[in-house]
Amino acid sequence: MRENTNSKDTACVHAGSHINPVNGVVTPVYPSAAYGYLDVEENIYPRYYNTINQQTVVEKLCILENAEAGLLFSSGMAAISTTLLALLKVGDHILFQRDLYGGTVHFINAELNKLGIDFSFADSSTMSSFSEAIRPETKVIYIETPSNPLLKITDIKAVAALAKAKGIVTVIDNTFASPINQNPINLGIDIVLHSGTKYLSGHSDIIFGVVLTSAEIEKQIRQTAVNFGGNINGTTCALIERSLKTLSIRVQKQNENALFLAEALAQHKGVKKVNYPGLATHPGHEIAQSQMMGFGGMLSFEPNLSGLEAAETFTRNLRLIIPALSLGGVETLICAPARTSHIKLSAEERKQAGITDALLRVSVGIESAHDILKDINRALAFGSETTSVSNR
Ligand code: PLP
Repeated sequence: MRENTNSKDTACVHAGSHINPVNGVVTPVYPSAAYGYLDVEENIYPRYYNTINQQTVVEKLCILENAEAGLLFSSGMAAISTTLLALLKVGDHILFQRDLYGGTVHFINAELNKLGIDFSFADSSTMSSFSEAIRPETKVIYIETPSNPLLKITDIKAVAALAKAKGIVTVIDNTFASPINQNPINLGIDIVLHSGTKYLSGHSDIIFGVVLTSAEIEKQIRQTAVNFGGNINGTTCALIERSLKTLSIRVQKQNENALFLAEALAQHKGVKKVNYPGLATHPGHEIAQSQMMGFGGMLSFEPNLSGLEAAETFTRNLRLIIPALSLGGVETLICAPARTSHIKLSAEERKQAGITDALLRVSVGIESAHDILKDINRALAFGSETTSVSNR
């Protein structure tokens, strides 16, 4: 049963659980793919997105994002693609912010024109860029903030208000913030998406996606979702429910660690630039402060090294931080977006987006922040003239 609570810490643990304490304090796992149809109000089937284990996770996430309803998918991209294809038809136009996860950009470029859906991009730092790009046939505005990998901040409230005035549906990818740090529905956004593979699962061992929205919009998306069939099974749902119980505590530690690291790197002579919305010098800091409860566990930085090779040598010299794709897990990961999340973009597209070969993205984990910094200091000092900051 859904817990009616205002505390996210409590909601993470209890909300949505379908338990009878006599049988145990954990929601039972229903691995079945077949359900009886006699004496039921609604036929149950995993691809109809209505099993108990699916509902448990959705109810917990609805409380955390202040949504009425939602659907779980087999990946973040399944959630993104299914949602957009449910909302758009031939002849429609969708406006995206320019800075997006590379896989989303690839989906846009590879799939939308084939379906007769037109699209364009707006600069997320100026509202006029959005308003000028709106056309009579614009049906959806899609944003991602903080963005991957440059941590750019979009003014969520301003975009939502602009769209609402014109009857346009708004979608946000809230993956980087997580529901602990940012609740876009409270700021006027219609649809929130997550790559649950990241903070929601939090242990780098589950891939899933989620869409959270109003009951009315969820009904529309569900019709397309049932046809595309990107659902997950009961066992995976149970693992997600377990992961979500520690979401709040994990994210709070990641927020603290990332701020500590960003501040230290910003003073480091071996570092050219740090992108973290929690730094007062970040161009989106004030907006981030107004719309986020914490600044998140993601940051990116450019060491005083040039090119992919130098960035790779640096990452090879790390002893604790793991060079790996993905993010949001308990272990600190590092990657060069030019070789990973944004590899499908052309060199020209990356240049336009401001993603240099030397840029490194860090997903800060829950280890000791001092140990993480020590590792970066050592790798930066190795074979370079740079001076390390002290390990505070
Ligand atoms: N959105 C963001 C911001 C991401 O970083 C990712 C993956 O890295 C996705 C969406 C896609 O998620 P998935 O890999 O679960 O399909």
